Amino acid sequence: PLRAEIIAIGDELTSGQRLDTNTQWLSERLGELGVEVAFHTTVGDSLEDHVAILRAAFERADVVVTTGGLGPTADDLTRDALAKAVGAALVEDPVALAHIERMFASRGRTMPANNRLQALFPHGSRQIPNAHGTAPGIDMAVRSADGNKSRVFCLPGVPAEMHEMWSATVRGAVAAMAPEARVLVTRKLKCFGVGESRLEEMLPDLIRRGREPRVGVTASGATLTLRVTAGGPDEAACLAVIEPTLDVIHQSLGMLVFGAEDDELQHAVVRLLGERGETIVSVEAATSGLLSHWLAEADEAGAVYRSGEFLPTHGDCTTEEWALNAAEAKRVAMGVDYALAIGSPNAADDPTVPVAMASAAGGKARSVSTLGQPAILKARLAKTALNLLRL
Ligand code: ATP
Ligand code: MG
Repeated sequence: PLRAEIIAIGDELTSGQRLDTNTQWLSERLGELGVEVAFHTTVGDSLEDHVAILRAAFERADVVVTTGGLGPTADDLTRDALAKAVGAALVEDPVALAHIERMFASRGRTMPANNRLQALFPHGSRQIPNAHGTAPGIDMAVRSADGNKSRVFCLPGVPAEMHEMWSATVRGAVAAMAPEARVLVTRKLKCFGVGESRLEEMLPDLIRRGREPRVGVTASGATLTLRVTAGGPDEAACLAVIEPTLDVIHQSLGMLVFGAEDDELQHAVVRLLGERGETIVSVEAATSGLLSHWLAEADEAGAVYRSGEFLPTHGDCTTEEWALNAAEAKRVAMGVDYALAIGSPNAADDPTVPVAMASAAGGKARSVSTLGQPAILKARLAKTALNLLRL
């Protein structure tokens, strides 16, 4: 496949003031065309660094996409850097200049002298029309010092302009470069109840480098996502490769898999109870209403989730016994099939929070350690409670 490099440009990115979302977006788009994104590079507003980065990219990538630095101000260096990197002169384009003047006229303003810079293009390059902004992009075929041929597309940093120009012009140009049409397809499975390393141990042969389809694991908010990715001529061909691997994962992980794609545990639980015509309520302390929020959002129709109660954390709700009793009392009082309860941390050296599930057939409880990442403790507690309904 074609190999691509994305270069994001700007001090606001290297300084951490702004998150580089353009690179993520472009990676997804290139991936959809079957192009392998081999490098993400971020560079601040320095001409010397720009030139060096571009030259390196032309040696190692077939397709180079840059975002940012096409504006009219002194810190916008992309056109200069590209001209320098390929040894081309900058030439003013009368059509581009007329377009920029018209953009200003249409807003009832006269064009500042600076904006004239945006009509400069490296000799031998083509313009990429920009329907929403002043600066056109640049499309240029280049040859690196070692003879490698690449094509570079320079797009603005403003996400909306960049998106429009990609869709209108660049996507077609990149697709035409690909020797054969290829798509990349990914299917996701969602798991809860084990850590990342344990999950890898359970799938020893799947998560291996160079394997087709590719299987990757990422963790977020105590949920693990398994991504299975394959490339092929079309979606059906990719799915034919992916599906046997999904089956193996289901067999190996069993109940640890609760859903697919963008499912969260609350969706799986609401779906399960909804299919059986059952109902649920909740009472929670340490999680500040998170469980209630999730369940209410997941149950748009309001058929499954009946009510939630928030308790201020206090000394009484620190034991599994409390959680079981609170859940059962709530369940009976509200006349529903299930209740979940989440307590608050006990004050011991090894602090835990009790969570419990009550049903007509009996209850279950767990003590969840508060050690680990504080940022995801609430999510872990709420998910542990939800998971009791599936076990
Ligand atoms: P302009 O003509 O608007 O100056 P430009 O091509 O010079 O366009 P920048 O000045 O680098 O682009 O950025 C313009 C805007 O887009 C800024 O708000 C910037 O924060 C945002 N932006 C730039 N690069 C990125 C990026 N990689 N991800 C997300 N936003 C970005
Ligand atoms: Mg700018």
